[in-house]
Amino acid sequence: MNPVHDWRDAPTADFAVIGDPITHSLSPQMHQVAYTSLGMPYRYVAIHVSVGEVSNALDNLKSLGYRGVNATVPHKAEALKWASHPDSLAQRIGAANTLNLIDRTATNTDGPGFLDTLASLDLSGNHALILGAGGSARAIAAVLPQAGFEVSIWNRSASRAEELAAEFGLAQVDTPCAGFDLLINTTSASLSDSIIPVNWSLANSKGVAYDLVYGQTPFLRQATQASMKTLDGKALLVAQGARSFEWWLGVEAPRQLMTGAIQ
Ligand code: NDP
Repeated sequence: MNPVHDWRDAPTADFAVIGDPITHSLSPQMHQVAYTSLGMPYRYVAIHVSVGEVSNALDNLKSLGYRGVNATVPHKAEALKWASHPDSLAQRIGAANTLNLIDRTATNTDGPGFLDTLASLDLSGNHALILGAGGSARAIAAVLPQAGFEVSIWNRSASRAEELAAEFGLAQVDTPCAGFDLLINTTSASLSDSIIPVNWSLANSKGVAYDLVYGQTPFLRQATQASMKTLDGKALLVAQGARSFEWWLGVEAPRQLMTGAIQ
């Protein structure tokens, strides 16, 4: 577990991740390993920020000389509002996870990072189903169709899935089934050990089930029982973090070392 600092009492450092909760973030150790391996003198810390305090917290970190910040749940939309110059992808997604505090630019590396992680998967086709319609679903919905996927979406609250389907040109399904080549769980159900009502009897045994949450989640356990291949959220953590690192510093991130740092 990280030492967590309140934003009003932030230590001297260069980069930070802000969130609520933030204690379990693996980002500090992942970025710190990258700086050390490249001989960079930077420090990356975890900072607790409550909802509604993002703007004040970012102003404070900027005044303390921080160069960059990663925003995580639930602050990505507020982080976008703080930025004066968000790029077009962050605007399209409606959320920023990577901020440059010096020039107030911002981007979102979740969507491109997600695409990076697909390269290591031996997908048998291009039919994808997104489960969920929150911030991370938006990041994926914004990039997946352009990468050649035919994308469907399901969400517990159907009206939110309908909105995303209309905005990003996706097909909406009423009942999620596992017959897709790529089944992406972007819901936070796994965090509370809740079960998503997926029809696993129709599972595609050549398909991949991908959970954005880390570890052996109930969703991934069910997918394994249904003979699907699985991937958890650690690959995305590294991919989005490596892209943030590169966006801030213009140097290729040591992805293998970063992966090793979070195991
Ligand atoms: P949001 O809060 O924006 O969205 C949550 C989504 O989960 C909503 O669609 C919500 O449905 C759904 N949901 C919550 N509980 C349940 C449940 N019990 N059953 C079914 N659906 C449920 O969260 P984010 O999209 O920002 O993040 C989602 C998860 O992805 C988080 O756990 C986060 O940690 C993880 N994540 C991991 C990343 C990584 O690097 N590995 C990157 C980004 C996110 P409804 O609309 O009906 O409420």
